[in-house]
Amino acid sequence: MAQLSDDCFAQGGPLMRVDEARRLLADILTPVTESEAVPLHAALGRILAEDIVSPVNIPPAPNSAVDGYAVFHADLDPEKETRLPVIGRVTAGQMELPQARPGAAVRIFTGARLPDGPDTVMMQEDCEVDGDTVVIRPGIKKGANARKAGEDVAAGDVVLRKGQRLRPQDVGQAAAVGRREVKVSTRLKVGLFSTGDELREPGAELAPGAIYDSNRYTIHALLTGLGCAVDDLGILPDDLETIRQALEAAEGKHDLLVTSGGVSVGEEDHVKDAVEALGKLHLWRLAVKPGRPIALGQVGLVPFVGLPGNPVAVVVTFLTIVRPLILRLMGGNDTPPHTFKVRAGFDHKKKKDRREWVRAHLVEDASGGLTAEKFPREGAGILSSLVAADGLIELPEDLTRLEAGAMVEFLPFSEVAQ
Ligand code: AMP
Ligand code: MG
Repeated sequence: MAQLSDDCFAQGGPLMRVDEARRLLADILTPVTESEAVPLHAALGRILAEDIVSPVNIPPAPNSAVDGYAVFHADLDPEKETRLPVIGRVTAGQMELPQARPGAAVRIFTGARLPDGPDTVMMQEDCEVDGDTVVIRPGIKKGANARKAGEDVAAGDVVLRKGQRLRPQDVGQAAAVGRREVKVSTRLKVGLFSTGDELREPGAELAPGAIYDSNRYTIHALLTGLGCAVDDLGILPDDLETIRQALEAAEGKHDLLVTSGGVSVGEEDHVKDAVEALGKLHLWRLAVKPGRPIALGQVGLVPFVGLPGNPVAVVVTFLTIVRPLILRLMGGNDTPPHTFKVRAGFDHKKKKDRREWVRAHLVEDASGGLTAEKFPREGAGILSSLVAADGLIELPEDLTRLEAGAMVEFLPFSEVAQ
């Protein structure tokens, strides 16, 4: 279980910059320290809970990077062709190596160990074979195509670091150093509710004024993508006592509780009062657009995150604030996602001192670069605008006016929502 100090989210005052909010959260939150060993096939996307040190050299011995002929470089004429007899053959995995000697070549294949002596491998495409003789063109450099023992990884190297999220190539790297299992942080157990009398399960009959609950599915997918074990706890009505009881019942079983909706200041927004009855709640007013206050608090000692109700605000708030918070709770590194410079395909005015994320899709422009086009409708409730977007353009606090053609930072969804 995540342990919080009493009332750790207490923050008051004016609008907070998003970097400040992230920094505060990083200071406040202590990672959940439990870990478990998982087989490599189950390791993708998990956060490593150990440094992985290689017990072996890769490659273990000098070997060939190509199919060709292993030669002594000193035998080669730098000006004209060299003819060498072929006196042996070695394939990948072959245990017994042929004896090499100066003045002769050994037929060799990719990944095969180099016999003692030869220091260079001539690619077969660059050789001619004439009976038992190979004809080698001049100009090859000493050491070409010969891999050295340990040139990829040396025994004792740290190949993967604690806190990193495992990508496919990282899983392969663990296998390459002989690991069958790796130690990863346990999945964060997240209890998820949505709130609102107007919400119905997808597929249910829609009464007048009702809508299908989409946020719970979006958030479930976002959390699952981060490696959380999500407990879908359904829809709560706009009723203080029901919300209070549901949160209380969920507290003991989860590392984190997440809700959407019901945290504005309307009379029917009861999440705030319910959480306050069970612990503490603070509305963090961030200087961002789109965005509403995000409610951070605790139910007992379990952290609580109250996301806004509007579907776009949910996603933007999640990706920019909640995602780093969750990675931190799971013991992950605080490496910010990469943004990429693209050309803005539109003019845009914005308020100073607030960070803004504009939904955009990318088109290839005449110069072969990428131009970001803005979705025509900007409302925080328009989920289809996110569906049409490839990512978010991040406009910094200082900027007040963006002109088409300027370079902007683009955050692809593929960087943060997988
Ligand atoms: P609220 O923050 O509860 O006032 O909700 C703000 C807006 O978001 C309202 O239009 C709600 O109907 C909508 N909304 C709230 N929760 C959801 C949800 N789970 N799925 C889709 N829309 C929602
Ligand atoms: Mg509501």
